[in-house]
Amino acid sequence: MKTANKILVDLSIAAVQLNPQIGKVNETITRAKMLLNQFKTKLEKREGNKNVDMIVFPEFALTGYNFLSRDHILPYTHTTKESPSFKFAQNVSKMFNCYTVIGYPESETESKKVLYNSAAVVSPQGELIFNYRKSFLYFTEDNWGCSENPKQFQNFPLTFKKKGKKLKDMSGDAIDVTLNTSIGICMDLSPYKFEAPFNDCEFASFNLDRKVELIICPMAWLHSSSITKQDYELNERSNQDIPKKLNDIEENLKSQGLSIIGSQSDFQLDLDNNNKTDPVASGSLDVDHTYNKLSKPDMSNVNYWLLRFLPFLQLNVRKYWASRGSMSDIFEDLGRPSYMGVSKNTYWAFSNRNSIMINANRCGVESGDTLFAGSSGIYKFNGRDDFNMAELAKDDNKRLDSTNPSVELYGNLGKGKEGIIMRDVQFEIER
Ligand code: GLN
Repeated sequence: MKTANKILVDLSIAAVQLNPQIGKVNETITRAKMLLNQFKTKLEKREGNKNVDMIVFPEFALTGYNFLSRDHILPYTHTTKESPSFKFAQNVSKMFNCYTVIGYPESETESKKVLYNSAAVVSPQGELIFNYRKSFLYFTEDNWGCSENPKQFQNFPLTFKKKGKKLKDMSGDAIDVTLNTSIGICMDLSPYKFEAPFNDCEFASFNLDRKVELIICPMAWLHSSSITKQDYELNERSNQDIPKKLNDIEENLKSQGLSIIGSQSDFQLDLDNNNKTDPVASGSLDVDHTYNKLSKPDMSNVNYWLLRFLPFLQLNVRKYWASRGSMSDIFEDLGRPSYMGVSKNTYWAFSNRNSIMINANRCGVESGDTLFAGSSGIYKFNGRDDFNMAELAKDDNKRLDSTNPSVELYGNLGKGKEGIIMRDVQFEIER
């Protein structure tokens, strides 16, 4: 590998997992502060006294997510700088001298005519660096007339002071690094309106084409045992017995000693770099779809999120596609630089590159029917392409998940508990 222009970046990144309930912003802030204080104590006891460089909160981290109408959400919407979530993030940034990213309901102006589902990026000094608005909306956003990001997916520069070392001179001084960064809020990872072709992988392809190095995902992603809009519609047509399903959710929570909103204040703090997540193949029987073992990640969701980053995963069949002749012909029609990771010039545009992804997903239950999947985690796509091709080729399809050796799982929180995960990540960028 050419090391001439490479910089090794060293960051400590944290994802916060919360269970906010609508109408309980102050309670959520109180719990979040308790959690952050415990985190600070643990952090200060760490060897080497390393600071945290970035803390990522979930989508709608403090307000709750399941708003049923415009009137329901209006009291919780603010312009960015007036938002209690932004002010909270400023305090977090100053407390830890780090970047903070937080999801919140935004009104474009004080008149509250245009609303967005947004994420603010706050600098260590408490300044607003960037504000991203969700581009692909989920059913719940339709309830309150959320607008799509008019700018669609966006990338932006984020500078980390003294966090890089030139690979050709590792004994030299640490240098500042400006990372090509993007934000994807939950549904941004899904096919547009669940209607676009699955393999388009719009958000991942955007990140690949723009050479994004740091992908930040605040989320309120649902656990598969949730009752969704589709289930209710199906029920109207064929009577699927929603009351029984609601009762099952309640009974399941009760059997785990929990109320209908799930777990709060039973914090999980994981700062252990050695506590990596064991990969599990998506077809494996070890993938548990039930909402239990709340301190364990939901591997079906972890696998699904990774599958949505298919362009970043090593996939043998790309070489075969490339060997079938003119890729330029394919790309002439496509109107964008890559498809499933293949580009005009190379069979894998991500080969030999690195990107870090952080998922901060909320947990808990809202409205008795919407369970969130937690499992917040930190990942590195390592761009490695040097595996035994013949061996892997046999089960390519099985490897578009956490078992793919081109993705490293630094760790995940459990599916159902509030908490913080922090990892030291090292990756290479080219400059
Ligand atoms: N696709 C996501 C899900 O099914 C969307 C949720 C969201 O955008 N909050 O959970």
